[in-house]
Amino acid sequence: AAEEGFDLDEVADDLASAGHGPLPVLAVVGRPNVGKSTLVNRIIGRREAVVEDRPGVTRDRVTYEANWNGRRFKIVDTGGWEQDVLGIDASVAAQAEFAIEAADAVVFVVDSTVGATDTDEAVVKLLRRAGKPVVLCANKVDGPSGEADAAMLWSLGLGEPFPVSSLHGRGTGDLLDAVLEALPEAPAQTFGEGVGGPRRVALIGRPNVGKSSLLNKVAGEERVVVNELAGTTRDPVDELIQLGGKTWKFVDTAGIRRRVHLTEGADYYASLRTAAALEKAEVAVILIDASETLSVQDTRIISMAVDAGRACVIAYNKWDLLDEERRYYLEREIEQDLVQVQWAPRVNVSATSGRHMEKLVPAIETALAGWETRVPTGRLNAFLGELVAAHPHPIRGGKQPRILFGTQAGTRPPRFVLFASGFLEAGYRRFIERRLREEFGFEGTPVQVSVRVRE
Ligand code: GDP
Ligand code: GDP
Repeated sequence: AAEEGFDLDEVADDLASAGHGPLPVLAVVGRPNVGKSTLVNRIIGRREAVVEDRPGVTRDRVTYEANWNGRRFKIVDTGGWEQDVLGIDASVAAQAEFAIEAADAVVFVVDSTVGATDTDEAVVKLLRRAGKPVVLCANKVDGPSGEADAAMLWSLGLGEPFPVSSLHGRGTGDLLDAVLEALPEAPAQTFGEGVGGPRRVALIGRPNVGKSSLLNKVAGEERVVVNELAGTTRDPVDELIQLGGKTWKFVDTAGIRRRVHLTEGADYYASLRTAAALEKAEVAVILIDASETLSVQDTRIISMAVDAGRACVIAYNKWDLLDEERRYYLEREIEQDLVQVQWAPRVNVSATSGRHMEKLVPAIETALAGWETRVPTGRLNAFLGELVAAHPHPIRGGKQPRILFGTQAGTRPPRFVLFASGFLEAGYRRFIERRLREEFGFEGTPVQVSVRVRE
């Protein structure tokens, strides 16, 4: 059915954008209420009310894919991140720190109706020290009368303030043009790390699950420390570790080794770290404390890894602490609460005793293999043809949408585009995804399925 008048240019676009590796990352930072979320929504073209966050509730998703003038990049919205817990200054400083570590360029949003505050000035200092390109957004310039307010922001020393109304869209085009100029073609973190380089692993999990213990265990004597920020006195950001006869790059280990001792806001820092590590990694080893009940924070971290499109391994740590009873309940928990990653390989380890450490590498390799799986178009369509014949979409309003043709638009993680003669219901899409997994494996990887309806 491939000949039935598809827009082949679109297919070509999908294929061309596939396999191009990671996208450059743009972070949007600024004080609360300056309009960061409004701007992000405007850029990603979404009306969803990301804005109405309840205090203290962290959004699961922080990274969105955006496209301006045909260039794709990722955008990180730091807007809704538990500001209330930390207080304004600490939260804004943490955003800036995140932006410095994880982003390739930064949009710094200032409320031009308020002008530059002391907090704004402090962030500017942080940003300038980092040396990442910064585009200054003078927000809330809803009309020409606001231009003068915007011009006042030259005083920040960040160059030209772009007068923008995120609410109405005014000036966002010029801002985005400047952003594209500031963004590198490819993310800095992956320069020189093409095919054949060490695979990048993020060790993530809530505080006290045993990340630093595990890191020390796997690093052992064989640790080779590579300081990515040569000439600085900081902790190494990433470490090369020999494991199972191969070299792996454990990313953002500084964030693990440098324990943040905070009574308040520790969770907030932990989620910044997690997001930063995921940005850089190919595969996430998600540590969970097997001796304790699965927490909301655990599932949130799992969602972050899945949403980031990373290969995933679930490592149940502290296995040495389990008694019969806990083991029984753990099995129930896994069935009920880990459905969203039931495809992820699981290892039951103990960072202190070293139990089953040797199973970690095979699990990581399985997940990476799933992540990079490519299904030939012919095989995919043979499978889809049989599937659709055996399980047609339910008839709705006298019509029966059909899947006409499918193609794998990308890997890392596998991304499929299905062309259909009508809207496919969510349940049917999930069914298709489930069957794709049964047929082709995809162990340890999220799979994205999008549907194009032929008009
Ligand atoms: P954030 O905390 O920085 O993410 O800020 P929000 O995006 O939640 O916006 C805070 C408030 O400012 C909301 O009431 C927005 O509707 C409003 N706002 C955002 N951008 C603009 C703008 O360009 N003009 C005006 N007048 N209001 C805006
Ligand atoms: P992090 O905050 O995730 O880096 O966690 P740590 O590695 O600092 O570990 C938190 C606590 O759990 C420490 O007291 C560790 O000794 C302990 N711990 C870590 N792994 C294990 C394990 O496998 N078994 C047991 N019994 N304790 C562990």
